[in-house]
Amino acid sequence: GDPLGKDKQMKRIAILGSTGSIGTQTLDVVRANGDIEVVGIAAGRNIDALESQIREFSPKICGVWDEEKAKELAVRVADTDTKIVSGMEGLLEIAVMEGYEILVTAVVGMIGIRPTMAAIEAGKDIALGNKETLVTAGHLIIPLVKEKKVRLLPVDSEHSAIFQCLNGEHGNKIEKILLTASGGPFRGWAREQMKNVQVEDALKHPNWSMGAKLTIDSSTMVNKGLEVMEAKWLFDVGMDDVQVVVQPKSVIHSMVQFEDGAVMAQLGTPDMKLPIQYALYYPERRPMRGDRLDFWSMKEIIFDKPDYENFRGLALAREAGKAGGSVPVVFNAANEFAVAKFLGKKISYLEITDMLEAAMEHHKKIAHPSLDEVLGPPGSCRRPRTGQRPRGTSQPSQRWAWGYARRPPRPRPER
Ligand code: MG
Repeated sequence: GDPLGKDKQMKRIAILGSTGSIGTQTLDVVRANGDIEVVGIAAGRNIDALESQIREFSPKICGVWDEEKAKELAVRVADTDTKIVSGMEGLLEIAVMEGYEILVTAVVGMIGIRPTMAAIEAGKDIALGNKETLVTAGHLIIPLVKEKKVRLLPVDSEHSAIFQCLNGEHGNKIEKILLTASGGPFRGWAREQMKNVQVEDALKHPNWSMGAKLTIDSSTMVNKGLEVMEAKWLFDVGMDDVQVVVQPKSVIHSMVQFEDGAVMAQLGTPDMKLPIQYALYYPERRPMRGDRLDFWSMKEIIFDKPDYENFRGLALAREAGKAGGSVPVVFNAANEFAVAKFLGKKISYLEITDMLEAAMEHHKKIAHPSLDEVLGPPGSCRRPRTGQRPRGTSQPSQRWAWGYARRPPRPRPER
């Protein structure tokens, strides 16, 4: 009954974070190809978007983080066959459900860790669009990926580029990873000049279109710091083997230098759909519409050294990655917390990195944190004086940062 063998070739995926930037672009890739079935979707609370996704893609399950919104959505889509689930249990149910092969993890924050691990346990390949997973739990995820023999397919443009550069290299040793960075909207600025940066300024990224948290992280270069840590885990190299190269136009998406000095680079227009599609069809390259690089109008590619003095977040990320253990967890938690505060206009722009620094200084490192410790160990939480958890934080681990983040940072020694 299937002369074209079409059913056999249907890919089946689930997407956590289907209403966000990576999630919606994943659905664009699904639309453009026509041979991918979306069996599960999940998002935080945007049920308008989820409803239209349910009507367009008919997933078997849809998860909503917010319980109340989940109930509301269940009423709205009662005429469909999609089952509505909620909370972490909902995400886990989607992660381990039968009948799909690739989980796209595109949720922002540490919320992605448990479902990612559950999916690996269930033998699913992971299209990894969530940085926090490897940054904070790489020591737990990587051994699990090896044990379960699943594929960890990078979705982030830089890591996809590195992954593409390694294709066909038959395990040749990496001498150095050259991770490119645009430098963000404040490239070339001194810290002093960044004093009065407003949310609106930081949300303007010169090249890529991304979610708000990621855009702020790009402006502080914390994002690049997280990517260095992520690269360390994904490609099994040391922190010092990952060199950040500023390349303002984001033409080169990253490079790999081998032991004979050869450098392989992946170039392209800044379009996240390419790395997403590459992850979903790996190792096959599918045709994709869109702009192509125009070398004649580009004329030159400019390189620069990263500025660790003025972009403290990048320097602190390196320190965190080198220290390892629970330090990257605290770095990440403090950053999630501080960025939420900045987006809520509660703190100034430079206070983001001040908070990171304070959190790291006051943290006592745990060498091999367990999953529970990564997600928020008992006793590590200092209650704020108001007796309430900070607003807008849903991650227990953010409490790690909370007590520390309120303290003023120790003055930095003069350089
Ligand atoms: Mg990136």
